[in-house]
Amino acid sequence: MSRVVRIHTSSGTTGIPTVIHHTQADLDAWTDLVARSITATGAGKPDIFQNMMTYGMFTGGLGLHYGAERVGMTVIPMGGGNTRRQIQIMKDFGTTVLHITPSYMLHLHAMLAECGVALKDLRLSKAYLGAEPYSEDTRRKIEKLWKIDVYNSYGLSEMNGPGVAFECVHKNGMHVWEDVYGVEVVDPLTGQALEDGRQGEVVFTNLLREATPLLRYRTRDIAAILKGSCPCGRTHRRISRIAGRTDDMLIINGVNVYPSQIESVIMKIPEVGNNYQIFLEKNGALDSLTVKVEISSGMFKGDLAQIDRLKERIRESLRASIIISPRVELHEPGSLPVFEGKAKRVVDERVKI
Ligand code: AMP
Ligand code: ZN
Repeated sequence: MSRVVRIHTSSGTTGIPTVIHHTQADLDAWTDLVARSITATGAGKPDIFQNMMTYGMFTGGLGLHYGAERVGMTVIPMGGGNTRRQIQIMKDFGTTVLHITPSYMLHLHAMLAECGVALKDLRLSKAYLGAEPYSEDTRRKIEKLWKIDVYNSYGLSEMNGPGVAFECVHKNGMHVWEDVYGVEVVDPLTGQALEDGRQGEVVFTNLLREATPLLRYRTRDIAAILKGSCPCGRTHRRISRIAGRTDDMLIINGVNVYPSQIESVIMKIPEVGNNYQIFLEKNGALDSLTVKVEISSGMFKGDLAQIDRLKERIRESLRASIIISPRVELHEPGSLPVFEGKAKRVVDERVKI
């Protein structure tokens, strides 16, 4: 303990948070990897970086903070929440790069108009979005709404935090910094290694850690190592977007469904707004799935027939993708719960066995 200079914890996605100890050498190595990640996205010294991830035990705040300072960006250590103030600061300081969760990024956009701020008042060009799964369609939606480039940022506290894998300017999967993080993808049931291109559970070994060494750590995150090389020339292999976690798979009337499949379907529908929730309950012996969806603000004209048609379209698209036919509820923009940290999309009220 005399050599430990900092302690972080995981978010406790599955039970009790894990405690991670860092020596100064651990922090330096982590900071270098975050700096490398930022550099891979083309950002650097001239950028103004607003860090909206929660500071504290959660690694998203301090992790990006020190890496951004190391590349010489101007860092605004805002932390999470207080949306109005965040927007004001973005405007006043000419923020060019944001770090935030995808769900909060959508919420932030919805709040712009309310704060009387237009995109032309801002200088934003990039956002690093991570800490929770999101689909390629959500990325595209955010890029279109904000007119920026979104880079996927992945990490977990057990492997330091952010800066384990990051997208480069080509945005085609996340380079795993393999000189430090040994990566394998295994079958979650048998533990057998899978070949590149096959989706399974991601396993990491940190090759440098002094204080909390972890060998072949099973992340429960589901992804594939991508085949082929990246046009940027980096030789670090890439992993796909995280499809979900082995522990967030829902079994609905016997059918396996990942929340990310539902997100991918609804975010393709232009009338769908910024937020959604997946609600499960028992209806007799059967599971019943309700997908609550906020509609986009231009849509709410009170035309009931139009609303019914939209509901039906969402229901049909979901049925085609996940086999189950859900109930669809439409909600007004801004009416579903917003989370400053990781979003909790699933409310499961079925009795747990
Ligand atoms: P934490 O316990 O706070 O370290 O959270 C780590 C977990 O957050 C990872 O194991 C993933 O499940 C999730 N996570 C982090 N970044 C991403 C990302 N870019 N996409 C999907 N999930 C992510
Ligand atoms: Zn690349």
